[in-house]
Amino acid sequence: MSETLTAAEIAAKSLFPTYARYSLALVKGEGSWLWDDKGNKYLDFMSGIAVTNLGHAPKRVKEALVKQLDELWHVSNLFQIPNQAEAAKLITDNSCADAVFFCNSGAEANEAAIKLARRYNQMVLNNGRYEIITFEQSFHGRTLATLTATGQAKVKEGFAPLPEGFRTVPLNDLPALEAAVSGKTAAIMLEMVQAEGGVYPVDPAFMKGLVALCEREGILLIADEIQTGMGRTGKLFAYEHYGIEPDIFTMAKGLGSGFPVGAMAAKEKLREGFTAGSHGSTFGGTPIATAAVKATLETIVEDHLPERAERMGKYLMAQLRGKLAGNAFVNEVRGLGLLVGIACKEPIADIVNGAQSRGLLVISAGPNVIRLLPNLLVTEEEIDTAVTILAELLEAKRPNA
Ligand SMILES: *Cc1c(COP(=O)(O)O)cnc(C)c1O
Repeated sequence: MSETLTAAEIAAKSLFPTYARYSLALVKGEGSWLWDDKGNKYLDFMSGIAVTNLGHAPKRVKEALVKQLDELWHVSNLFQIPNQAEAAKLITDNSCADAVFFCNSGAEANEAAIKLARRYNQMVLNNGRYEIITFEQSFHGRTLATLTATGQAKVKEGFAPLPEGFRTVPLNDLPALEAAVSGKTAAIMLEMVQAEGGVYPVDPAFMKGLVALCEREGILLIADEIQTGMGRTGKLFAYEHYGIEPDIFTMAKGLGSGFPVGAMAAKEKLREGFTAGSHGSTFGGTPIATAAVKATLETIVEDHLPERAERMGKYLMAQLRGKLAGNAFVNEVRGLGLLVGIACKEPIADIVNGAQSRGLLVISAGPNVIRLLPNLLVTEEEIDTAVTILAELLEAKRPNA
C-alpha cells in the first residue's frame, strides 16, 4: 500500500542507504528560495552543494533547455554537436585551456584528467610516468580512481584493492611534496580551496612553490575546480586567484546550473594525449546538457557574476566576523568568494539542523565546519537573514552563554 507511506518511508525501503537524508522533501525552487511539500519556505545557502550557482530555475538556462527539448535531445558523439562545440569555445575563451572533453559528473571529469595525464606521459612523452600526487583532506570523487586520489580514509573503506599510482601528502607542506616527487610522477592534482575537506584555501606561497616544482620536474598540474569553479570563489576559476595556469582543470557542479554535466579542459600540448577512441562517454556533452552549459556560462560571464560573488563573499564574511566576534565557540571564518566556512571548536551538526528548522539550509564541511554556499545572485538582505539565524544559533553554543 505505497500510497499510505511517506516519501521518506518509500526511500528507506527502495533506495540504498548511501545518504544520511533529512526527512525534508523539497519540491519547488526559485532564486535563493526552496519550498517543501508542506509549503514551508527555506533560504538556500547550500545550493545543492555549489550546483545552483545561478539560483533555482534561472530563466535564461530554463529557456535554453526548453528550446532544446523541443528540437533534439540526444545524438551520439559520432556526429557534430553544435551546442557542445560552442560550450567548449566558451570555456576556452574564458580560461587558460584550449581543448575540452564533456562528461556527466565531477568524478568522471577527474577520471578524464587522470587518464589524460597518464596517457600524455606514456604515449606522447614516452616517459612511462603514471603517478598522481594529491593532498590530505582533498575530495576528488567516488569512482575507484578518484576515491583513491581523495585524501580522506572514510571514502576508501571497504573498496580494496584500490588502483595503483596515487600518493597523498599534507597540504601546504612543500618539503613533503618535494620528497614525494619521483621519476614516476605524472601530475599533481588539487583543489584551490579544499571544500569538502573543511574550506581551506591553499596557501599562495605553497602554490607558487608547487608550480615551480611542476615546471622544474615536468609534472602536470591538475586543478579540481568542480566546487570552486563557475564563479563561486570570485573568479570564473579559482586558479586565477593564484596567478597560475593549470595544465588541466575539471568542472561539474555549477557547470549546468543543476542539469548534470561535467567537463575536463586542458592546454594545447595535451590535445594529442587523447586520440579518437582513447576516451569517451555516451552521454558526454549531449545537445541538452551543453545547452545548459552555454546559457550558464553566458550568464556568468555577461552578468559579471564572479565579481559579484567576490563582493557578496566579502560582505558575508564581514557580517559573520562582526556578529561572531567574541564567540569562543567559533575558531575562524574563512573562505574565498561565496565558498565560506565557519570553523568551530566542536561538532556543528545540531547547528545545521537548528538552521533548517528556522528555514535556513546550510551544510557542513567535516564535523566542525559550517559551510555556506549561497547562489551568486544572493542579496545583502538574504545574507543578513542567514547571518542573524546563524549568529543566534552559535550564540547559544558560546561557552558560558
Ligand atoms: C563534488 C566534487 C567532486 C565529485 O563530483 P561528482 O559530480 O559528485 O562526481 C570532485 N571534486 C570536488 C572538489 C568536488 O567538490
